[in-house]
Amino acid sequence: MIIIGNGTLLANTAEHAVTKNGAVAVSGGLIQAVGETTALRAQFPGHEFIDAKGGLIMPGLVNTHHHFYSALARGMMIKDPKVSKNFNEILENLWWKIDKALTLEDVRLSAETTMADSIKCGVTTIVDHHASFGAITGSLDTIADSALSMGVRACLCFEVSDRCGKEAALESIAENKQFLQRAKAHKEGMLAGLFGLHASFTLCDETLKASKDAAGDAGFHVHVAEGAADVEDCLQKHGTRVVERLERFGILGPKTLAVHCIHVNEAEMQTLARTNTTVLHNPQSNMSNAVGCSPLLALNAHGIRLGLGTDGYTNCVLESAKAAGLLQRHHLADPSVAWGEPYTFLRQNNPRIAGEMFGTRLGELAPGAAADIIIVDYDPLTPLMPENIAGHMHFGLYGPLVHTSMINGKLVMRNRELLTIDEKAMRAKSRQLATNLWAKL
Ligand SMILES: [Zn+2]
Repeated sequence: MIIIGNGTLLANTAEHAVTKNGAVAVSGGLIQAVGETTALRAQFPGHEFIDAKGGLIMPGLVNTHHHFYSALARGMMIKDPKVSKNFNEILENLWWKIDKALTLEDVRLSAETTMADSIKCGVTTIVDHHASFGAITGSLDTIADSALSMGVRACLCFEVSDRCGKEAALESIAENKQFLQRAKAHKEGMLAGLFGLHASFTLCDETLKASKDAAGDAGFHVHVAEGAADVEDCLQKHGTRVVERLERFGILGPKTLAVHCIHVNEAEMQTLARTNTTVLHNPQSNMSNAVGCSPLLALNAHGIRLGLGTDGYTNCVLESAKAAGLLQRHHLADPSVAWGEPYTFLRQNNPRIAGEMFGTRLGELAPGAAADIIIVDYDPLTPLMPENIAGHMHFGLYGPLVHTSMINGKLVMRNRELLTIDEKAMRAKSRQLATNLWAKL
């Protein structure tokens, strides 16, 4: 048994929404008890004690949409901004060139550096959407091995696309299929799989059908109507809009993650709601690619489950919650909206979305829930109450305040030191591989 105590619990439960001098007792990867520090220490005497020193003790955060493969692009400056005038050109000139040039070793380091920085921002579970068309077969196993070794919960998929030709599309379908079998056989709750699809505009009917056939009962992880060009392409080639096309192929449903959904109309929102499809919002990426503003509040009003991801833009999912509110208020020119919703998505929806994939209870500090716990160096300078947690998260918290992190009952970071990887060696290797990669582009 390990007890984490002497902090303010934000347990995300009614009983311990805000509990001063709280503690959590952990063993076997699960939370065993939650209460006051003195009471819990008396109940379990002589056990290891981790002192939160008055900070916040919270459930680990979940990032529902990320791209490990983009890590080695950090710091790469676009040489001529005129070259990429729109989102499709950004994909063609940057991301598709990078993913084609990656080796399996690049894939491994991309995943490890991303997981390391994610841990440092309080993220304990990552749902990734992977592409490495230069090294397809074995890429998901490579990432999974790193995730297991670092102790990070990871849900993986490979983005099937026709953009690199028929053979690559078939190989990426096989890669998803192979990894889904591994994820299914894994019973420890640390690995999960989805079937990855890039986006409607790079998928022909034949590939979509083959993907559906290969996916079995798995859900899909697919970019949907991210840019207006995806919709135009769909109308032109298939005579329908993106959401409707995906529904025709049986891609939507309660296990499927539809990423972005920026250019969706009323009928498509109704389809997403009716099929219980989850929609993932990535505000910073959307702003950076200038693809438009998600109709987030309208999607929410339709009863669609919404989650937050970072889309490779940052490793800090808390930033996404902050940006989501700012973007809605700015776009709608209404300072009164979207104060609470992003934090509901982050604290309630993200853990539920991922929890269903991993077969674990995530996102709460309660007996029986997974022991994914972070300690945040935050001593509030104003009253912290159950009703104003979102306000403290928005204005007071930021990722690097997290100094200690436990995943599945195992410490992965203590006082900002990563415990499951040699960080210095990893960063040196990453710089070396990035130099080689940049020279190839
Ligand atoms: Zn994405």
